[in-house]
Amino acid sequence: MENIVIKPHHLLDILKLYGKGIENFVPDINYNHDFYLIGNMVVNGKVEFIRFTRDCDDICRPCKYCKTEKCSDVVAFLSGYSKDEYNKEIDDELLKFWGLRFDMDYSFNDILVLLSKELNYHLFKKVWKHEQEDAIQFRNAFTIMGTYKVLLNYAGSKG
Ligand code: SF4
Repeated sequence: MENIVIKPHHLLDILKLYGKGIENFVPDINYNHDFYLIGNMVVNGKVEFIRFTRDCDDICRPCKYCKTEKCSDVVAFLSGYSKDEYNKEIDDELLKFWGLRFDMDYSFNDILVLLSKELNYHLFKKVWKHEQEDAIQFRNAFTIMGTYKVLLNYAGSKG
């Protein structure tokens, strides 16, 4: 079992894509980040403890946009926002919603149980306030589905 450091919205992105039906994440040759590596660990029952960060995480480290703990990418659909600023706003909101803190170790299984109770349309609508309605509904449905699928994988991995 492994311990990971991750931005809260990266965790939800993994759960959303898994809920949508992606069973095996593959490397991104453009960004060169480790989304595939952490994503596969998360969904395959390999993570024991999780620590949330708002800075560069285990996914970001090899990414071409990870510069001195900050993301130097831009948000294509939102002028005036850096991706770093945009992501930090989302990540701060998510932890506030869940009553969790950055830079603390949590049992990943406990986090999955919490997410299965706390994820809902209201949360996605409030946190992803710049997104279109259909994208929010997509996020809500598939992230919840992915959370339950991963919970089952962790229950299975315990025997
Ligand atoms: S550095 Fe930025 S673009 Fe790269 S993985 Fe991290 S958040 Fe994404």
